[in-house]
Amino acid sequence: MSLEARRIRVQGIVQGVGFRPFVYRLARRHGLKGWVLNDGEGVEIWLEGQASDLEGFLAALFEEGPPAAQIVRIQAHAAVPGGYSDFRIIESHKHKHPVTQISPDLGVCEDCLRELFDPADRRYRYPYINCTNCGPRYSVILGLPYDRPNTTVRTWEMCPACEREYHDPLNRRFHAQPTACPVCGPRYFLRTGGAELRDEVAAIREAVRLLREGKIVAVKGLGGYHLACDGEDPKAVQALRERKFRKEKPFALMVPDLQAARALIELTPETEALLTSSARPIVLAPARRHLPGVAPDNRDLGVMLPYTPLHHLLFAEGAPDVLVLTSANRSSEPIAYRDDEALKQLWGIADAFLMGERPIARRLDDSVVQQSAFGPLMVRRSRGYAPAPVATLPVQEPILAVGADLKNTLTLVVEGQAFMSQFVGDLEHYEALLAHQETLHDLLRIYELDLQQLTAVHDLHPEYRSSQHALSLPARRHLALQHHQAHVASVLAERGVYHERVLGVAFDGSGYGEDGAIWGGEFFVGSLAEGFRRVAHLRRALLPGGDAAAHFPVQAAAGFLWGLGDLSDLTQPPFCFPERFLKALELLRKGVRTFPTTSAGRLFDAVAALLGFTQEMTFEGQAAIWLEHLARTAPPVEVYPLPFDGEVLDFRELLLAVIRDRRQGRDIREIARAFHGGLAEGICTAARRLAQRHGGVVAVVLSGGVFQNTLLLNELRACLTSSFPQIWVNQVVPSNDGGISLGQAALATSSLRGS
Ligand code: ZN
Ligand code: ZN
Ligand code: FE
Repeated sequence: MSLEARRIRVQGIVQGVGFRPFVYRLARRHGLKGWVLNDGEGVEIWLEGQASDLEGFLAALFEEGPPAAQIVRIQAHAAVPGGYSDFRIIESHKHKHPVTQISPDLGVCEDCLRELFDPADRRYRYPYINCTNCGPRYSVILGLPYDRPNTTVRTWEMCPACEREYHDPLNRRFHAQPTACPVCGPRYFLRTGGAELRDEVAAIREAVRLLREGKIVAVKGLGGYHLACDGEDPKAVQALRERKFRKEKPFALMVPDLQAARALIELTPETEALLTSSARPIVLAPARRHLPGVAPDNRDLGVMLPYTPLHHLLFAEGAPDVLVLTSANRSSEPIAYRDDEALKQLWGIADAFLMGERPIARRLDDSVVQQSAFGPLMVRRSRGYAPAPVATLPVQEPILAVGADLKNTLTLVVEGQAFMSQFVGDLEHYEALLAHQETLHDLLRIYELDLQQLTAVHDLHPEYRSSQHALSLPARRHLALQHHQAHVASVLAERGVYHERVLGVAFDGSGYGEDGAIWGGEFFVGSLAEGFRRVAHLRRALLPGGDAAAHFPVQAAAGFLWGLGDLSDLTQPPFCFPERFLKALELLRKGVRTFPTTSAGRLFDAVAALLGFTQEMTFEGQAAIWLEHLARTAPPVEVYPLPFDGEVLDFRELLLAVIRDRRQGRDIREIARAFHGGLAEGICTAARRLAQRHGGVVAVVLSGGVFQNTLLLNELRACLTSSFPQIWVNQVVPSNDGGISLGQAALATSSLRGS
């Protein structure tokens, strides 16, 4: 029998997930010799042995990989045997610049959980238990290659027992970089007022006692601090709202297990799988129970399961079964992740701090996914997902896309792989702007790229902070790209669709248009390769007061209703519009500070105002969400007209119908429903006619924040299916502005290839 050799390259998430020991065991099982190593591109394997054993190895490589690994590609080449006498794991060597995929953080695994609650185990009740199959990754990585000295655990020296496990290829903790135990590793403690409770078990018990008493406890997690309180205690929830200056925005919940989650929200097999996946996102789904104060005016609840050992310990110690667990920050500042920063920012909000000694390398909010007619959709992509690549783009040059100003994320393209950053936040807050800059430099540092090599891509909006920051960077080249084209492009990038033409529908709150107007109800034809052309849009309205109008639905109402007859009686019942409405009309009359817009988000605001949402919004999209949830409580009704003339989708008849029905005392839930149905039908009609006119369109693409509206998506799916073979929406990245950076990177790809 003859000896054969193979050189094998494995790419994907294959580092820091126990891949080398898995290969080691597999090679020994098949009686093969050679070596395995980590480098900047992934894992490389040299194998020698009988042909049949080599075949068996390759088949098992694909099928049996470790749970946290994600193999993207395996390439095997025949080689000349080198006469190895054993199989070894050899030292990592460094690549020119790293392109390997960094593993996202992983929820604690079953094996570690078993040990956590086993009194005989040496890590019994140790809140930092982890192994190669689970635990922190991106949140502890300081640089590549992924080795202990490049993590935030580097200051803790391993004890002999941990050391033994770490060096044993047959152990679950072989090269588990953040491995630790109660003897050698970091600990948790509790701080209340001036006092510190250092005993870990006592600290966790005391935190639980405080939670049960209705107190608010700041808890250090994987990617930052959370504020926790009893979700079934309305007084505690109210206190949290008041102290956090978060009047109405829904809070996320954590429950101990799937059973408890099922009791709170309506789940599907898909969302159950997500809830229990190692990414452990918050799942947003229809509520089965009402919890006062947790999600006002909202029929959904956001629920997640425990993902750190500490979360499990808290529940095991008797923490309330429904815990509010919300990012620790004031209003919409970024999540606090440094201890000193948390203590300072949360002073006066938290009654106690359950703090851990292991530093967090970078902030990572909880991710959020939502159930829809198209399956689960990403709403916020952060912990558990970042920084895994979201797309492969046909480009070799490095690209940095800085995203938009709301729900900011960044995307870095290295050798065609698009890595999207964690969620950064709204850049109008100074803290978030700093976080944006920090994230940008962090990504460049990890992938060892210089700004001078990069094409920096930003939004067309000259006043976006992200645009201004991008322009201040000493990049090789700068590119400004249109917001709504980027929305559509993000969907195509996810799917790797480069040449096919689509009809793109981008509906959102606002984005800077090619003509300088505020866009947000746009239809495009084109492809990533050829670019996009705007072919239709929502009727133009005038928005009085500019950006402030995004906070006051009555201001949007004034603009959208302008020219539709006498509006002065809207200050009377049933509308009761406040003074602000008359002032907005005044601006329109004088023609000062009014801005043309085609924003669908503002149309939602106008309708919400007519149905009673006349106050200021306390978070982005609040009026539109209110309107959606109102509509979801009504049965299907006859829809309002939204005619399309080939170029413009005209909302005037629809708004007049809303006013008429409201005056006649029709149930506002039915009006809201008729509006949703009308919008869906209008979009469908327009899409159908545009596709016919422009020909050669393979799919209709929906993107933009408006398509987070699950009722609208349901109705659109129902009516688009008959005319389009394919309906594509965002699934990997958010359809809101959190997905813009990927779209920018994808659009830049074609500009670079064309130049
Ligand atoms: Zn584990
Ligand atoms: Zn130890
Ligand atoms: Fe947008």
